[in-house]
Amino acid sequence: MSHKQKTVAVHAGARLGGSKAQPVVPPIHVSAVSWFDSSDELDAALDGKDYVYSRIAAPNTALLEEAVAALEGAEDCVAYASGMAALKAVFEAQELKAGDVVVMPGDGYGVTRLLFKNLCARAGVRLHALKLTDADALERLVALRPKLVLAESITNPLLRVPDVRALSGACREVGAALAVDATFPSPYGQKACELGADYALQSTTKWLNGHSDALGGTVSGSRERMAPLRSARVLGGDVLGPFEAWLTLRGVRTLPVRMKAHCEHAAHVARRLAESPLVERVHYPGLASHPDHEVAKAVLAGGFGGMVAFELKGAGRPECFRFLEAVKLARAAPSLGDVCTLVMHAASASARRMTPEERQEAGIGESLIRVSVGLEDPDDVADDLLSAVAEVVNQ
Ligand code: PLP
Repeated sequence: MSHKQKTVAVHAGARLGGSKAQPVVPPIHVSAVSWFDSSDELDAALDGKDYVYSRIAAPNTALLEEAVAALEGAEDCVAYASGMAALKAVFEAQELKAGDVVVMPGDGYGVTRLLFKNLCARAGVRLHALKLTDADALERLVALRPKLVLAESITNPLLRVPDVRALSGACREVGAALAVDATFPSPYGQKACELGADYALQSTTKWLNGHSDALGGTVSGSRERMAPLRSARVLGGDVLGPFEAWLTLRGVRTLPVRMKAHCEHAAHVARRLAESPLVERVHYPGLASHPDHEVAKAVLAGGFGGMVAFELKGAGRPECFRFLEAVKLARAAPSLGDVCTLVMHAASASARRMTPEERQEAGIGESLIRVSVGLEDPDDVADDLLSAVAEVVNQ
């Protein structure tokens, strides 16, 4: 049957025929909707047996989820439009009631703190922010009898390392679900589910993507824990787009190779910074002087990560801002996990959404600089940071 041009314009070129080729790189499935020749097949697809509508399930997202679940050593994974969407999904999946208790890190990512404060306030849930590395943290946690505990594998920005295995034991004792945001080490450095976490979260925007070109988030865990998240995502619509899923999967392919180098480079940069008299203190879990070094050796078996933080001697915010402008190789940007080195003033960026009192309690001072160490030669990175330090710190 021949059709008029308007019809041809809409329908021609819809099927790729005559090829049995398997592309080495998965194609990007941009179609949000699929159609079927058979009504039975369409009916089955609407039951989740095939791809029919990308808010329900989508091929690029499914491939990424398969890869991240495998990296995390988890049964299943659900991907989201961002790391924050993943955190919100885990909170909402608990179906908390007024009076329930949630525990989260008092010294973790400021935006997560504000999200949880808002979610808890809305639901009448009591939120307790604890430093999970404090000696009495587990005792206090058990006494609070929480329903949900959130931890960060390596805290943002102070790089403290809680004992996830011990936290998991405490959570089991009181029947709390344990969610671990493992963005900083990535699954290369820590497989949180294997240490007893119920949920392992990633902002894939960071190390998994690795090139700062796609936002995304994942939650991994048992099939039983992931099923309600997947159903809620169909309703909530916080899905990852096909381009973002594709770019993130492309990043995942080189994650172990990149992370090995990021960890080695970060350790080298941390040592070089620690030698400088202009640097007050270096925070890196791989240094023997780090307060959690022994715990880190046990729970970050894959490596101590690519993040380093340090305090400029006698500096306040103005000196730190000048430092950000003085670096020549590193880029002042509020993210991490890129192939190039990124620097940031913690108090005004990752901890920006915290109140001054919360920052003080957490120990996030005005002189703290956070570095995501890239894949450049680590001596070039250290030279760049140290010459910028020398420019701004009064000697
Ligand atoms: N978790 C941590 C530890 C982070 O550092 C960030 C972002 O910086 C997030 C979660 C949020 O991720 P996203 O920006 O992908 O929403």
